[in-house]
Amino acid sequence: MKNNIILSVLLLFCLSVSGQFVQKPLPYAYSALEPLIDTQTMEIHYSKHHTGYIKNLNKAIIGTNAEKKSLTEILSTVSTLSAVIRNNAGGHYNHEFFWSILTAEKNTKPAATLEKAIKETFGDFNILKEKLNAAAASHFGSGWVWLYVNQDGKLAICTTINQDNPLMDIAENKGKPIIAIDVWEHAYYLKYQNKRADYLNSIWNVINWNTVSNYYQIAVSK
Ligand code: MN
Repeated sequence: MKNNIILSVLLLFCLSVSGQFVQKPLPYAYSALEPLIDTQTMEIHYSKHHTGYIKNLNKAIIGTNAEKKSLTEILSTVSTLSAVIRNNAGGHYNHEFFWSILTAEKNTKPAATLEKAIKETFGDFNILKEKLNAAAASHFGSGWVWLYVNQDGKLAICTTINQDNPLMDIAENKGKPIIAIDVWEHAYYLKYQNKRADYLNSIWNVINWNTVSNYYQIAVSK
């Protein structure tokens, strides 16, 4: 009996420490994207900022109807949940997505279907890059810039404030993300200081077009 109580307390303790959402390992070393994204920024960004969003999310959902939901279910019903859940669920999703579309691998290329869609929507790959950079550069304050598949199945660009994203039911521009770029100062300030445009130009050299092409394929096939 006593042992059972001890075991139950231990189990509850473990659950409360680990929480519902866990952080996936970063798919590369902190230093992998040097010199374009520096090691220290990567380490702080992953182990402090992203970890923090997950811890706060796990805390905030306790006792709410978000507790049994998946992350995408939380995002798609976020209007019914608290601002703390909105910010931290977005923070968790956005960062996990962001890590996944970056790589140290050189010369990854958009798949033929994605390349065709980029040409159809933007005319040219460089115009996509210019438009996305311009949207990110002119976004006031903290937030994200997205390339996403909109509800008509077309590629589109938007920005979101804070940790919002196109999967949220409150999003002005809804759809499925293909590329996310973090434009919070914590993503670039140590290396680029106030020069957000330089950070944006650099990041195109570490985009994982294999992953982005997969995301496009999944987004248009549903
Ligand atoms: Mn960030």
